[in-house]
Amino acid sequence: MAEKKTNYDVIIIGAGPGGMTAALYASRANLSVLMLDRGIYGGNLNNTAEIENYTGFSSIKGPDLAEKMYQGATQFGANYAYGGVTAIEDGGEWKTVTTDMDEQFRARAVIIATGASQRHLGVPGEEEFSGRGVSYCAVCDGAFFKDKQLIVVGGGDSAVEEGMYLTQLAASVTLVVRKDHLRAQPLLQDRAKKDPKLKFLFSHSVTSIDGDDVKVNGVHLVNNETGDKSTMPIDGLFIYVGSVPMTKPFESLGILDDQGWVITDQKMATKVPGIYAIGDVRQTPLRQIATAVGDGAIAGQEVYHYLQK
Ligand SMILES: Cc1cc2nc3c(=O)[nH]c(=O)nc-3n(C[C@H](O)[C@H](O)[C@H](O)COP(=O)(O)OP(=O)(O)OC[C@H]3O[C@@H](n4cnc5c(N)ncnc54)[C@H](O)[C@@H]3O)c2cc1C
Repeated sequence: MAEKKTNYDVIIIGAGPGGMTAALYASRANLSVLMLDRGIYGGNLNNTAEIENYTGFSSIKGPDLAEKMYQGATQFGANYAYGGVTAIEDGGEWKTVTTDMDEQFRARAVIIATGASQRHLGVPGEEEFSGRGVSYCAVCDGAFFKDKQLIVVGGGDSAVEEGMYLTQLAASVTLVVRKDHLRAQPLLQDRAKKDPKLKFLFSHSVTSIDGDDVKVNGVHLVNNETGDKSTMPIDGLFIYVGSVPMTKPFESLGILDDQGWVITDQKMATKVPGIYAIGDVRQTPLRQIATAVGDGAIAGQEVYHYLQK
């Protein structure tokens, strides 16, 4: 837990794999470090059932990797505290970080590691039934759908991986894919096609979600090629249709691209001296655990050099 002091060498906003690695490197360089997160440490690892592409582990559950990373991140004295950051004020040598608990912390360098959240479909019924059959996290909510009929919306890696995880629990899972093909890696596609409980509905989009007073009971669909409309009775749906950057608190710093991702150089530095960004929140060609960890190592080292100057 955090010491109740307010001044640090480095504040890291977000304790996902990127933030935790930056904390490890910066604290090992003897800097005083505070990681602030508005949720539990681990970030999107907590939403991932099984990870097979992080070096050193043939397979590991997301929450288990989060636990191991947290042990590593805090072993050299980095502090972790709850706090949703609402603003960074750049005062030159010192930056002020404000949280939604009305706390203020100061640091000479700040690393933004706030990641990305799941994109919503934006269809009627989605917000109304969120938590009542609409979910963005199979590992969190899958167990509520034992022997039920589910759909997963999306055709990328996350949709296919989490769809296969859900077939271990549900009676059947239909992957509703906007295009006429999957975007997921070939290895995942091969595996998915061999899963007897996974069905595919290509070239279809969900247009609205129905339910009763308690929970979801069906979806309306459109065929994107013919325009034909149909309905499907279901008990729940899981949505994996891309991600959006978590950068609202940083808009006034002028460090975002037109989609809201943070622009950095190779050293993870933004154009504001002393403010860095790492991981999924960055404008980057690949958003994965390995890349977030690599970014975190670079930023953790770079803040040390920056503070020596
Ligand atoms: C369903 C799913 C499956 C995936 N499967 C894999 C996989 O198999 N292999 C793989 O390599 N990658 C996978 N990924 C991607 C991987 O999880 C991410 O690339 C990785 O977690 C990015 O790490 P990060 O530290 O940049 O951000 P995140 O993990 O997103 O962590 C960001 C943290 O910042 C916090 N935060 C956000 N805003 C604020 C704020 N204002 N104030 C304070 N804290 C804030 C959040 O609470 C969160 O804890 C998957 C992602 C999903 C969603």
